[in-house]
Amino acid sequence: MNFRRLPITGKHISKNDKFIRSHLGHACTWKCSICGQARLDKYISVYTHDISLRYGFEKNTARANIRYCNDNKDCEQKAKNYY
Ligand SMILES: [Zn+2]
Repeated sequence: MNFRRLPITGKHISKNDKFIRSHLGHACTWKCSICGQARLDKYISVYTHDISLRYGFEKNTARANIRYCNDNKDCEQKAKNYY
């Protein structure tokens, strides 16, 4: 995950808060599986694919979570058609 891409402005965050900021980044951002951008938690949704049959397992025994930007129709569409 690339914390430096976090869209937090440095204006009212002092240098001492760098540690806190990086921790917040860790907790609250996800990387979109489609466009690769690190987004805040609220902008990332998950589409769960049942990939069991594809890999020779019984149905509903293997799943893959594809994260996508829920404010980007393109990411959403590609996430749904990922497999
Ligand atoms: Zn995206």
